[in-house]
Amino acid sequence: MGFIQKVADGAKQLGTQAKDLGGIAGDKARDISKKSSELFELTKLKREMQKMETEIANNLAGIGALYYQQQQAGQVDASVGEELTRLLNDTKELEMQMKELETQIEDMQPETPACADCGKELPAGGKFCSFCAKQVVE
Ligand SMILES: [Zn+2]
Repeated sequence: MGFIQKVADGAKQLGTQAKDLGGIAGDKARDISKKSSELFELTKLKREMQKMETEIANNLAGIGALYYQQQQAGQVDASVGEELTRLLNDTKELEMQMKELETQIEDMQPETPACADCGKELPAGGKFCSFCAKQVVE
């Protein structure tokens, strides 16, 4: 199986996965908005965002591969066209959910400075994080 074919096949499966992930992230986001803005939840939310970013990147790679396949074939294959549409819609949906998450993360940002690496609260005036020993970048 050629590389392009592999990416295209992977993309066909990804659409479903992305949808599942989007649902999970949405549920979590709703949960979190009910709770207090704990730093732990914030870290989880950020991790969710990163996963979604990866899914979007994968989707885009898949869209590219499918499009290339279509161009190579020189004709529009209906099933490929459907997959393309599905991937495009899933990616759009993911992007919207990411924006939603972004807003929630901004709202949850703590007043006190947090370590950029581990996300834990930093001691006032400290030069290093007392949890992961990362140097504090101002
Ligand atoms: Zn740290």
